[in-house]
Amino acid sequence: MKVPFLELKIQYKSIKHEILEATHEIYESQQFILGSKVQELEKRIAAYSQSPYAVAVSSGTDALLTSLMASDIGPGDEVITSPFTFFATIGSIVRVGAKPVFVDIREDTYNIDPSFLEEKITTRTKAIMPVHLFGQCADMDPILEVAKRKKLLVIEDAAQAIGAEYKGKRAGSLGDFGCFSFFPSKNLGAFGDAGMVTTHSEKYFHKLKILRVHGSGPKYYHRLIGGNFRMDALQAAVLLVKLRFLDYWTEKRQANARFYFKMFHEEGLTPFIKLPVVRSDRHVFNQFVIRVPERRDELRKYLANAGIGTEVYYPIPIHLQECFKYLGYRRGDFPVAEAASEKTIALPIYPEIEREQQAYVVKKIKEFYM
Ligand SMILES: *Cc1c(COP(=O)(O)O)cnc(C)c1O
Repeated sequence: MKVPFLELKIQYKSIKHEILEATHEIYESQQFILGSKVQELEKRIAAYSQSPYAVAVSSGTDALLTSLMASDIGPGDEVITSPFTFFATIGSIVRVGAKPVFVDIREDTYNIDPSFLEEKITTRTKAIMPVHLFGQCADMDPILEVAKRKKLLVIEDAAQAIGAEYKGKRAGSLGDFGCFSFFPSKNLGAFGDAGMVTTHSEKYFHKLKILRVHGSGPKYYHRLIGGNFRMDALQAAVLLVKLRFLDYWTEKRQANARFYFKMFHEEGLTPFIKLPVVRSDRHVFNQFVIRVPERRDELRKYLANAGIGTEVYYPIPIHLQECFKYLGYRRGDFPVAEAASEKTIALPIYPEIEREQQAYVVKKIKEFYM
C-alpha cells in the first residue's frame, strides 16, 4: 500500500470540469491580473473569515509583508512572535527592518504561550504576530488583552488556518490583520502562489490596496513605497471554485483526525504517542502532528520504506536558523519549541485519504515501537 503525504490529484479530478470552465473564462477575457474575479474572491473570503474587508495578494508571505508595511513597522521596531512556525512569519518581520522577538510555545497546541508575552514587551514593541499553527487558533483572548492594554497591533498568521475558529470567531477576524496563504498544500490551495489579508479597518484596507500596487494611487502617483503584491485572476478563478467545497473538505479532514484518534486509542498507542490536543472550537487540521517518544527520524525512514509519506514541521526552530545567528539566541532559549522540532512528525491527513490507508499508517507506527 502507498500513502502519500499529500495527494492533490484526486481533489483536482473531482472538480476538474468546473475548474476548466472557470479558467477558460479568464483565457477568453485576457484579463490576467486583479480584476473582477479577484474582487469577487475578496468579497467571499472576507465573508468566510467574518471580516468586513479583504485584499488579495500574491502569497501568504506577501500578506504578512503588506500587513507589516501597512502598520508602518520598520527599523527600530519589535514584533513578538513564535519561533515554531514557517520561515515566512519571521522573514517578513526582518524584511521590513524590524526585529523579531520570540516567546516559547505551549507544549499541547504548538502555538505561542501568552503568559510569556508581557515580559517581552518593550517601548519598541509594535505588534504581536500569533501563528495559528497546523489549523488551530492560538489562545487569542489573553493575546488580544495584552495587545489592547499595551496598544499593540495583532497580525494573525492564519496561513494554515482558514475557517478555524476561536470562541466562535473565525481566524483572520480576531486581530487587526489576518494573513492567509493559498499555497497548494494549504486547506484552500490555488494552482500556484496566492494569499489574502483580512482586516476590520477601512483605513488599513485602503492602505493595503495601495501597497499591493507599488504604493500607487491614483496610477503612477506614489505616496507610499509598496511592491508587486498582486493576485492573478487565474488563481482567483480556481479559488472561487474551490471555496465552494472548502467546508466539505474541512469536515473530511476533521473526520480523518477523529479516525486517527480512534485508531491510536484502539491500538493502545496513546501511552507513548501524544495526539494533537484540540483547544479551539474549530481545528481545521491543515496538519495532523503527533509527538513520538524517541527515534523520530528512524520512524520516518521506517514509514517511508513502507510507502508512507510524512513530514517534519519544523526540524529547526527559527531562533536557531543560521541566518538569524546575529539575533543572539541559543539552544535552550525556547525549550518547548526545540523539543517540538525534535519529537514531532506530521502524518497524511488530506481530505481524500482512505480509511484503509490511515489504518495502515497506525499499524506501521505500532510495528515500529512495539
Ligand atoms: C505557508 C505559510 C506561510 C507563507 O505562505 P506562502 O503562501 O507560501 O507565502 C506563512 N506562514 C505560515 C505559518 C505558513 O504555513
